[in-house]
Amino acid sequence: MKKVFCFVLFFFCLTGDLLCSQREKSLFNPEMASSPVVKEIFLFIEKNKEKIIDEWIYLTEIPAPSGHEEKRAQYIKKEFEALGLDKVHTDSSGNVIGIWKGTDQGQKIIIAAHLDTVFQDLWDIKVERKGNILKAPGIGDDTAGLINLLWTIRALKNAGFKPDNNYYFIATVGEELGMVGMRAFMDSTQEKFDLVIAIDAWLGEVLYGALGIHGRKIIFSGPGSHTMSSKNTPNPNLAVAKAVEQVYQIQVPSEPPEKWAIINVGMIQGGKVTNAVSQESFFTVDIRAVDPGELERIIKLVEKASEEVAAETGVQLKYEVFENSKAAQIPGARDSFLVKTTMDILEFLGVEKIELSAQGTTDASMGLEKGILSICIGRTYGKYNHTLEEESEIDGLFVAMKQILLLIFCLK
Ligand SMILES: [Zn+2]
Repeated sequence: MKKVFCFVLFFFCLTGDLLCSQREKSLFNPEMASSPVVKEIFLFIEKNKEKIIDEWIYLTEIPAPSGHEEKRAQYIKKEFEALGLDKVHTDSSGNVIGIWKGTDQGQKIIIAAHLDTVFQDLWDIKVERKGNILKAPGIGDDTAGLINLLWTIRALKNAGFKPDNNYYFIATVGEELGMVGMRAFMDSTQEKFDLVIAIDAWLGEVLYGALGIHGRKIIFSGPGSHTMSSKNTPNPNLAVAKAVEQVYQIQVPSEPPEKWAIINVGMIQGGKVTNAVSQESFFTVDIRAVDPGELERIIKLVEKASEEVAAETGVQLKYEVFENSKAAQIPGARDSFLVKTTMDILEFLGVEKIELSAQGTTDASMGLEKGILSICIGRTYGKYNHTLEEESEIDGLFVAMKQILLLIFCLK
């Protein structure tokens, strides 16, 4: 009896402990929104709506394809300086950094939005305004993020907000090329950061994990021969067919969200003529997984299948890896105070569709790779990003701005 009691007690303590560690609390409280500082902040946004829209349009019309962000960077740098941020500078990658110093006890928090757009060779951008919609390539992704960044600082400064934390505001380059600027910043800095917040999603999204992506070309080759003499000639096309069949036998989990993965064979090619055996044939795999172990497991299984098929069909095998970004998850991130606080704020602001996802591919991923609790949050509502038809909602921008302002107010 005693033994059973002890065991139950032990079990209770253990699970109690586990539950506690998962039960981080939200920092948000609806009463905060009626504090004089927050009221002042919101009023400032309200009063400046047209100015904000004008600057959003102005900034969108400064072309900034990845690798050519200089003009936009100069503008942001000038504004960071005008706002009185510390140590405003452009680093060797082209990122613009400005620091808002808090106290020595404060945490170090990065808030980032990216300068670049995917529109290479598009140098003439005109924003169309129709009611509540702004339309132009890059209007949302991520110019709306940059505008949020600038006006968040302006609103906080105007209200006399004094942060405890040290905020590092960063306008990054090369996000669309695989977070190049943010990666370089995180690799080069000596600072130890506590949180990373990227503003680079649609409003309502909270991305707390980094999606791993592995893209690989699997190439089979053989001596080739005319059809007439092709009996027993190793056939790369046959190898591709068999290997693709095997790749699709690999079980990939879709649940739970922290283990989600998917695999796609996007391309198959091989042979030059109809009356000969192909000398070289290939297929590609695009593997995406939120868990680094899962990504690794699937890659190994693709390799195993390819090697077995190559041996069975007598062809040569080689690989070309064309994409490799790490998956990274912080244990408990989904239930962390940061995610909970953000969700409570979104709910408070009346955002109807709140979506939590472990599948981020934004500057926040670079924080996650370093083991830092990081999220990516929304900049406004919109659609068609990465296309010439890109649209953003004007009203949504102000909701997103309030989201960020309240988040900083909660973090202090
Ligand atoms: Zn983006």
